[in-house]
Amino acid sequence: MSSLAYDPNNIFAKILRGEIPSHRVYEDEAVVAFMDVMPQGTGHALVVPKAPSRNLLDADPAIFGHLMAVVQKVAKAAKTAFEADGVAIMQFNEPASGQTVYHLHVHILPRFQGIPLKPHSGQMEKPDVLVANAEKLRAVLARG
Ligand code: 5GP
Repeated sequence: MSSLAYDPNNIFAKILRGEIPSHRVYEDEAVVAFMDVMPQGTGHALVVPKAPSRNLLDADPAIFGHLMAVVQKVAKAAKTAFEADGVAIMQFNEPASGQTVYHLHVHILPRFQGIPLKPHSGQMEKPDVLVANAEKLRAVLARG
């Protein structure tokens, strides 16, 4: 097996199967979104397709349309929920690019004028902050 094969025991596959907890804010038949546990800023969330692929490079392009529609939905909701000035969308492919979890995911990063991002995969956020931010984002997403 190639070292670039999909590992079904990666952390996001376990989250998708419900084997480890996450602060989910959105789910449909093909996509889940949850809070990043080591946020680079307030409201950092991840949009994750259920279909297995390591990243964008080996994914079935047929999933991209719906995935990006959900990215837009969560990005708009995050901008509202956290009263952000803008939203950055980030996505990494393989270690040289900064990827650390090998199941395709898209980062949703609310951005605030003059506030820099914290380091990637830096510090664990306090659980109560993750709960509160997930509630804020869920509430806006629920409005449709
Ligand atoms: P990547 O570097 O692969 O693009 O991003 C992986 C992201 O997943 C990082 O931002 C990191 O903070 C986040 N992360 C790593 N482990 C977990 C986890 O167990 N749960 C959640 N919700 N996020 C995680």
